[in-house]
Amino acid sequence: MSLLSATGLRKSFGPTEALRGADLTIEAGEIVAVMGPSGSGKSTLLHCLAGIVPPDQGRVAYRERDLATMSDADRSSLRRTEFGFVFQFGQLVPELSCLENVALPLRLGGMKRKPAEGLARQALDQFGLGDLAGKRPGEVSGGQGQRVAVAKALVTTPKVVFADEPTGALDSLNGEHVMRLLVTAAKDLDTAVVLVTHDMRVAAYSDREVVVRDGRTPAQVVAP
Ligand code: ADP
Ligand code: ADP
Repeated sequence: MSLLSATGLRKSFGPTEALRGADLTIEAGEIVAVMGPSGSGKSTLLHCLAGIVPPDQGRVAYRERDLATMSDADRSSLRRTEFGFVFQFGQLVPELSCLENVALPLRLGGMKRKPAEGLARQALDQFGLGDLAGKRPGEVSGGQGQRVAVAKALVTTPKVVFADEPTGALDSLNGEHVMRLLVTAAKDLDTAVVLVTHDMRVAAYSDREVVVRDGRTPAQVVAP
């Protein structure tokens, strides 16, 4: 049984056909890079897989459960408990400390402040980010902020992390640090990663690359 699968996805925004028949299957613990030119439908595919955007046609299933047949409450609970998200920027709340940011997904899941911040502290320490705990996102560098964002995405030990250009705003050295942290931590937790990137050096961290062109997924190349 696959962890997450998309079959025959089609999605239009007005006259724009963002997806025109996209398929993607993610196995547990697998790191998959979704590549392709700008505007080819990568982000839309990721949003459909994560249950954020409903496809016009086709099916997305998490552990064989069709996302379309779930209630909104069940879908958001699934996103909160089983999924994590890393974007290019903007996922840290500027008013909260890095520790409070990492604790936030646990708090939103109903955990009390003390245990949530205890786990957040553990994650930061484990990732070598303990010194950043009391700082606000505006007081840390872009690369540090993205590593905190990785900690925030993984603190709930999700089954899938969706990462949309997670290194897009970083120089290549910081990008490597973020990717190494994401990949190492995901492998440790047996968390799958769906990684949208146009950067081949970033995609090199994946187990497998999938190419999206004009809203289709014609060639699924298994990395050596
Ligand atoms: P990529 O991630 O590969 O750059 P996207 O999935 O973001 O591609 O976009 C695919 C196409 O769909 C683009 O033409 C984009 O402008 C369009 N698109 C994506 N999201 C929306 C939206 N919410 N409203 C209108 N058009 C959109
Ligand atoms: P990416 O750089 O990852 O492809 P974009 O910057 O294209 O992402 O899109 C960011 C957000 O804006 C996404 O949620 C996408 O669905 C939405 N979006 C993309 N293109 C359009 C558009 N033409 N009109 C409205 N929303 C769009």
